[in-house]
Amino acid sequence: MNLPIDPIKNITAKYERIFIEETSLPSPVAQRILELVPNDKITVCQGKPDIPTSSEFTGEEYTRSKKLLFITKHPGTFFKRCPGAKKGLACCNYYVLNLGLQCDMDCSYCYLQSFINTPYTIVYSNLDEALNELQEMYDSAPNSPVRVGTGEVIDSLSLDPLSLYSRTLIEFFRGKPSWRLEFKTKSAYVEQFLDCSHDGNVIVSWSINPQHIVETEEHKTANLDERLRAARRALDKGFAIAFHIDPVIWHEEWQKNYSELIEKITTQFVPHEMPYISLGSLRFKSEQREMMRERFGMNSYVTRAEMFPGAAGKMRYDQTLREEMFAYIIGKFKEKSPQWKVFLCMETPETWINATGDLPMKKDDMRSLFRPLQVERT
Ligand code: SF4
Repeated sequence: MNLPIDPIKNITAKYERIFIEETSLPSPVAQRILELVPNDKITVCQGKPDIPTSSEFTGEEYTRSKKLLFITKHPGTFFKRCPGAKKGLACCNYYVLNLGLQCDMDCSYCYLQSFINTPYTIVYSNLDEALNELQEMYDSAPNSPVRVGTGEVIDSLSLDPLSLYSRTLIEFFRGKPSWRLEFKTKSAYVEQFLDCSHDGNVIVSWSINPQHIVETEEHKTANLDERLRAARRALDKGFAIAFHIDPVIWHEEWQKNYSELIEKITTQFVPHEMPYISLGSLRFKSEQREMMRERFGMNSYVTRAEMFPGAAGKMRYDQTLREEMFAYIIGKFKEKSPQWKVFLCMETPETWINATGDLPMKKDDMRSLFRPLQVERT
């Protein structure tokens, strides 16, 4: 499809080099790159590109991995359960489909910093095999309310003008009304799929934060207004939308800034236009702190935050502070209208009770999101 040239130019400009593994050359994504990206930026290689790395994998090497793109086949399983599906956390039956690894944007808190040690960004070229896996699972549970998200280890849409994977996935989910496809992004790229027909089971969701947090912590992302405008565009074309206010980040003016964010959302959207808004507080693995400080120094609300060991081995704010921030944000939404559905993501049952008054399974407006599934995959 023909897209305005800017997204392609913007994406291409982020990469110093694009490697294509030679067996991936016939894939649609490789062919599109060969067509749209200047040839002097592309290297065709056999196997993995030879990028020297140190044994510790430094912050500098991590940053460089965002500037090198590798198109290759994924040798393993694409489809797996959300990492929130762990003992001790209330989870919302969410499955993840990984179509790549690493992100072209650069949030200070990004959890990819805790485990990526690959010297390049990867986009998998064998989308057809991913769809075969999805089809197999669909055949075993066609009536289960499965949500499939593509934004766990790579942003769902920030490279999508180049890959156009959204279009193929939307088509796959057509005719499967009990299944839902969820794109999660901090980009504003939606134009590439807005003309696709769908069955109303595609949700485009944005992680959002006050513009002050976008500027201080969410580097190279679309700004807040661009994300909200993209959401409006998607909604006007019949796609469902959702917002994740995640991670909620404490800073001195957090009440004012989160109030302004809620004001923007509630003046530009009405509750029935989105099924839910999820909230999550800042969290990261303790071993990630060193990488974040190496890359962003101490000039960040994230690297300076006082954090404590919590559920699922993550560092979190003190529970009282989490509950205070969640209760404040939920209260602001409910002041605007009791119709807003706001739920907590990756939170303990205790925080649910203290911040919202009850467990999700006991709330009429939340129960369907947390209903146990008929299928289980490892
Ligand atoms: S947009 Fe998401 S994946 Fe990308 S850097 Fe930010 S947190 Fe990480």
